[in-house]
Amino acid sequence: MLTAITGINWGDEGKGRMVDLLSQDYDVVVRYQGGNNAGHTVVNDRGSFILNLIPSGIFNENVVNVLGNGMVIDLHHLCGEIENLRRGGIRITPDNLKISDRAIVCMPYHVDQDCLEESRLADKKFGSTRRGIAYVYGDKYMKKAIRMGDLLHREAIADKLADIVEWKNLTMVKAYGAEPVRVEAMLEWLERYFTPLSDFVCDTGLYLDQAAKAGRNIMFEAQLGALRDIDFGIYPYTSSSSTIAAYAPVGAGIPNHRLDKVIGIIKAYSTCVGEGPFTCEMFGPEAEALRQAGHEYGAATGRPRRVGGFDVLASRYGTRMQGADELALTKLDVLSYMEEIPVCVGYELNGRALTDFPVGLELDQAKPVYTSLPGWHCDISACRKAEDLPREALDYVRFIEKAMECKVRYVSVGPERDAYILL
Ligand code: GDP
Repeated sequence: MLTAITGINWGDEGKGRMVDLLSQDYDVVVRYQGGNNAGHTVVNDRGSFILNLIPSGIFNENVVNVLGNGMVIDLHHLCGEIENLRRGGIRITPDNLKISDRAIVCMPYHVDQDCLEESRLADKKFGSTRRGIAYVYGDKYMKKAIRMGDLLHREAIADKLADIVEWKNLTMVKAYGAEPVRVEAMLEWLERYFTPLSDFVCDTGLYLDQAAKAGRNIMFEAQLGALRDIDFGIYPYTSSSSTIAAYAPVGAGIPNHRLDKVIGIIKAYSTCVGEGPFTCEMFGPEAEALRQAGHEYGAATGRPRRVGGFDVLASRYGTRMQGADELALTKLDVLSYMEEIPVCVGYELNGRALTDFPVGLELDQAKPVYTSLPGWHCDISACRKAEDLPREALDYVRFIEKAMECKVRYVSVGPERDAYILL
């Protein structure tokens, strides 16, 4: 069984929490895109952990976790993440963590370049997480990047790196007026942070192909959501990778396999980190109350997230782009304080109602059409069966199901592993 767990919205839907729950029935969990630019927060009996690179299956003893070829990996960050998990008593060995030899290394100069560009843009900035992601993916496609497998051959890396750094300095020094990148310093950095990781590197595509053929259950864990996809998201305020489920077999290294199921993680309201169009956005005290109720501050950066009501148009588009077979609705409990639940049921452009999620200037100029649904106004975090939910809460779930034309199979009512309802 090959299952993708992907985000329907702008990210931060609670994918990590759902992977942690559902991966108990899986043998392998694979991350197939992105880097350490977003974070999953996972709360379970081992503690509370923030994961940026490592798949959320790491807490399940029998799960093998894979960082796929579609990822970009900051070695320093990964070493820190492993150390942190080990300190929390989590076992990490080459048996339960494998890193693709084709994954791209995110170098310190990618992070520097990201920061330099955000500073240059000043008030026109993108709201980058400054983790170097756009720059390392850019270099990947310009074929000026280093792959994890390259580092297994120390003798060849110095020359390759010297060529890349010479090219990179044209930008760093001549365009930005920054200090030149030094090859020696980069080699030292690679030596220091690759050494503890080298045993984890292998041909993960081959491993996964064999696992799939042997009938193992494989889960693909996405970072961010459909609206951050480089092709289909709110470009250019997207991530630099493909966040959609269809990319999962490619980014994992098994394009010869097809997904059996896509589970879309969809949030009961909307949040968005950084700049860009966010039509359903709410402001003022109403927004602040929702932000506080949902603890909407970025796991990777601590930035306050922009918030809004559930966005029907954006979420329906996200559900379609992910090809979701079923949905997991998260954070329903967060809405419990509301008397009435604001829902963005559509967009309007110059007096015209839009029926589909727009693109470009139309998206920039669209205005939200809000309505409200009855709230339940009581704590639902202890509910474990559909019958436990107040009628208004169940109606809200049914409303979303109908609007998305997709079955809601899980409703999450808290961050803890068991705080969910199976419908
Ligand atoms: P991800 O990147 O999609 O995994 O999402 P994040 O980890 O950035 O954000 C989800 C946050 O919401 C985490 O802090 C979770 O612990 C928390 N969370 C997940 N599901 C629920 C839920 O149903 N209710 C509540 N109250 N919190 C949840």
